Amino acid sequence: MMHLINSKVLALLSALMLGGLFCYIFQSYRLAADVIPESHEFYLLAPEHQQYEQPSILHGRTDVVTVTPWLAPVVWEGTFNPVLLDSIYKVKNITVTATVFAVGKYIMFLKNFLETAEQHFFVGFKVHIYVFTDRSNEVPQVRMATGRQLTVRSVPSSKRWQEISARRMELIQTLIEEQLPNHNDYIFCLDVDSKFHGRWGSESLGALVAVTHPGYYRDPRSRFPYERRPASKAYMASGEGDFYYCGGAFGGLLQEVHHLAKTCRSNFEADTQEGIEAAWQEESHLNRYMWINKPSKVLSPEYLWQDFKPKNPEVHIIRFSGVVKNYAEIRPNT
Ligand code: UDP
Ligand code: MN
Repeated sequence: MMHLINSKVLALLSALMLGGLFCYIFQSYRLAADVIPESHEFYLLAPEHQQYEQPSILHGRTDVVTVTPWLAPVVWEGTFNPVLLDSIYKVKNITVTATVFAVGKYIMFLKNFLETAEQHFFVGFKVHIYVFTDRSNEVPQVRMATGRQLTVRSVPSSKRWQEISARRMELIQTLIEEQLPNHNDYIFCLDVDSKFHGRWGSESLGALVAVTHPGYYRDPRSRFPYERRPASKAYMASGEGDFYYCGGAFGGLLQEVHHLAKTCRSNFEADTQEGIEAAWQEESHLNRYMWINKPSKVLSPEYLWQDFKPKNPEVHIIRFSGVVKNYAEIRPNT
């Protein structure tokens, strides 16, 4: 009996040792092979021999929150190394698409938007700007650097600004379906009545990217102008909501933004069927969407300020900002 147990224990022990040895060999083989992964798609691959300031997990911005409760980074000046990030994303050879709508009198904002985008928006990257307008012949000629291009798409004009603003989701959805077949490129959808003042680059890239609204980022959620009627598909109950996000800037991977645009469009249309229009049109639907589908990266209000707002101390740089405009003069309706 004793002898039997001993040989069983011995067999078990040898099996364990062999297993351990196998794991050890296999693991070191796997590690060696993984140092440089074969597919670059989802890796942040840094070029070798790059020198930059040592990162710290003890010291950094203390005046702002730089990570959400679901552990998405919140991008503020001073939280990232632009040179390092650019070198990581350059090798991926990505194209960054931007959509901008200039319908009716809003065409007047396009020149400044495009000229300042040349100076600040993904400089050094492949950029493709799609302008949606009903005034193609008034699209300004702006010199674009190599690797950057502009495409004009005609859209019908409208008698209601709410409709122009809200139809953007539908047009973004169809643009992605028709022009930008499924691959891992990025898109940002931006308001035209704005200008770039500082770098907006690879630090903003993520699967689903939202910008916190400059008007509400210091407020309790009870003051957020969410849609509050339960009848709307954009409904947000009291006690719900993380941040109030801008309708004037959002983005991410093509497939993610496609899903967002498609969902917001169909919810907006379902509301219309019920005779309801959300408080802030597509912005309300976007906020509802981001409440359920948490953004993987949140951009601070540096990424969409408003020119009339004095700069707050936590805002060290304004990258993109809405110009002051006379609504009565430029909108087709009040
Ligand atoms: N827009 C447009 N023509 C209009 C109204 C709106 O092209 O008559 C587009 C434009 O891109 C604009 C966006 O819809 O930036 C959102 O509207 P707006 O900027 O007026 O909204 P706000 O930022 O003032 O909330
Ligand atoms: Mn705007």
